[in-house]
Amino acid sequence: MKMLVCICACNGALREKLDIRAVSKAARKLPDVDSVLTVSSLCTEEGRTLLIRELHDRNPDRIVFAACSPRNHEQTLRRILVAAGMNPHLMQIANIREQVAWVTPDRPAATRKAKRLIHAAIARVRYHEPLEKLTIPVCTDVMVVGAGPAGLSAAQLLAQTGRNVILVEKSPSPGGMPMLFDETFPDRTCGSCMMQPMLDGVLHGEYPGRIELLTLSRVRSIRGALGHYEVSIAQSPRYVDAVHCVGCGECVNVCPVMVRSSGFGGVDKRRAVDFASSGALPHVPYIDASACLREKGKSCTACLDACPVDGAIRFDDRLQLHERTVGAVVLATGGAMFDYARIPSLIQKSGADVMESREFERMLSNDGPTRGKIRTLSRRTPRGIAIVHCVGSLDEEYQPYCSAVCCRYALKYR
Ligand code: SF4
Ligand code: SF4
Repeated sequence: MKMLVCICACNGALREKLDIRAVSKAARKLPDVDSVLTVSSLCTEEGRTLLIRELHDRNPDRIVFAACSPRNHEQTLRRILVAAGMNPHLMQIANIREQVAWVTPDRPAATRKAKRLIHAAIARVRYHEPLEKLTIPVCTDVMVVGAGPAGLSAAQLLAQTGRNVILVEKSPSPGGMPMLFDETFPDRTCGSCMMQPMLDGVLHGEYPGRIELLTLSRVRSIRGALGHYEVSIAQSPRYVDAVHCVGCGECVNVCPVMVRSSGFGGVDKRRAVDFASSGALPHVPYIDASACLREKGKSCTACLDACPVDGAIRFDDRLQLHERTVGAVVLATGGAMFDYARIPSLIQKSGADVMESREFERMLSNDGPTRGKIRTLSRRTPRGIAIVHCVGSLDEEYQPYCSAVCCRYALKYR
């Protein structure tokens, strides 16, 4: 093997910080090193021309650059190798500027460190193989997981660029958490009104047919690699046909089953057949199979009998599997609430009713469980309310980072 070690003095700046001559001498003695070249500045036109000429003359089969960070000039150096007729991957960079000169004030120590980094780079470049560029056909369709604000925006932007999008949402309707917020920070816009233009864009926007929305769906499996993934999506039955349903709500009015809603802290109640939220789009209800009397072996047909449209209620709906090919996946699954029950002292010491922000949010909503009135768990009007910020955040024991939303979120209650 015939190696060239090329040391860049960074316009003389490195000479003050380390002994370039000693570094060069040490490199010359390392196995397989054929020659060592010191240049004033590799990233200038002059340095580039000099290096191309030297590469032609010396004809090395591996190169180690002792220079600045690969973040700065790795691509520059690769282009020089290509210009000299070499494979651009037969090189390795020892970063003797950011990792040595700039952080090691003691000159002898910096010199020793530079020697070691060059030694390591030589040991590594020995194993480099010439890589060739391949052209691989890729699928341009994209799967976006999560149809909250982030997922909806991503889907729209992708559709604008001409991509086909499969938008996978686990809940019965798109829109995410804001759909249940009565007022949002800072201008107190209603959450579902805020989401309306985005939902409209996805459901009936300028890119018809580009976005396929799959609600009540989860990604079952994904196989493949960047540019070509085979995805399998399981879609739970809705039991209401979105094409036939006119959203009149007659089925909801007659359903005899009332259960706690699984979302938003479980404070809301819903019928076994109900809309996901009052502003849900498309405005089509769904039957929660776990609550429906039919799943319990009873023979209820109240919703079917009340429905004015033939074929809208479909008790024979079944789980569907959708197989799709996509080139990329965008994960926009949103945030999750921190479980305050993990901090027992918060509840035990206060002696007060403690509820999480989403429960409080729903209580303040006009369509919430108390129709906008604030009540304790025992349904009394509280004498005062304390809002605790940063629960679980900025705490090494729970989440060491800041949620970045709770301050603004809580300030709207003022
Ligand atoms: S069939 Fe189920 S969803 Fe329909 S009304 Fe009866 S309990 Fe409600
Ligand atoms: S399923 Fe029938 S009753 Fe229920 S909202 Fe749709 S059209 Fe109305």
